[in-house]
Amino acid sequence: MQFANKLRTVLLALAMLAMTATVAQAATKIHWYGQAAYKIETPSGGVILIDPWLTVPTNPDKDSIAKLGRVDYILITHGHSDHVGNAVEIAKKTGAVLVAPYGLQINLKSVAGYPEKQATAATGGNVGGTFALPKAGAKVTIVNAIHGSELVPPVAPAAEPGHPQAIASGNPVGYILQIDGGPTIYHTGDTDVYEDMKLIPEFYKVDLMLACIGGHFTMDPTRAALAVQWVQPKQVIPMHFGTFGLLAGTPAQFKAALDKRGLGDRMIEMKPGEDREF
Ligand SMILES: [Zn+2]
Repeated sequence: MQFANKLRTVLLALAMLAMTATVAQAATKIHWYGQAAYKIETPSGGVILIDPWLTVPTNPDKDSIAKLGRVDYILITHGHSDHVGNAVEIAKKTGAVLVAPYGLQINLKSVAGYPEKQATAATGGNVGGTFALPKAGAKVTIVNAIHGSELVPPVAPAAEPGHPQAIASGNPVGYILQIDGGPTIYHTGDTDVYEDMKLIPEFYKVDLMLACIGGHFTMDPTRAALAVQWVQPKQVIPMHFGTFGLLAGTPAQFKAALDKRGLGDRMIEMKPGEDREF
């Protein structure tokens, strides 16, 4: 009987130890909606959305916006509609703070109606800048992307001379997120491979790269494989493909291109609507 009691005490202690260990090593959860849209839940309980086009046609969950609870920050890489997505609606619903390059931040407030108080200079930077995201237990660095960043007004002005339908909105960018107690994540935004990607591993050990591979508007699988070689992430998830016909690059092509460089084991394929923990 006494032995049984002791055993019970030991088992209870072990169970508590296991629970403590689980709490201490809470995972970072990543959800892919489709295109370039991700939700990242950090170990401290923070929630970050990147390029939040939650109504992307490939997202199997048509109630994604309604299901959102806490959102602390929305990071947007450039002004195109497949990246700005539902940001303004989500910001009004959740109070999320905008992280965006300077020119895009101004235009999202003045043209698209992003709430002013949720988009200040504290979280509007530019390429090379790093700042804290305290509510999510993370730091973000803005890095280059080779692309465009025109914002199309949600309510188009009269289609007559003098009313631009595409408003230049600063530099297109990518983001490096350093999560406290979690992975360092590089979201490429929309870009071609460019040689300054070699600078990224000079400053960061990237655990997870979210890489566009669709081609036509961005790098294709072959060019994206070279980007992986230069960035040296531990793992890479392909994105920005298959949403519509022009984005013809596939994960299979990307895997083959990575294999040629001896990097094929780094690819993780996600499906829209899927979650992963890191
Ligand atoms: Zn895009």
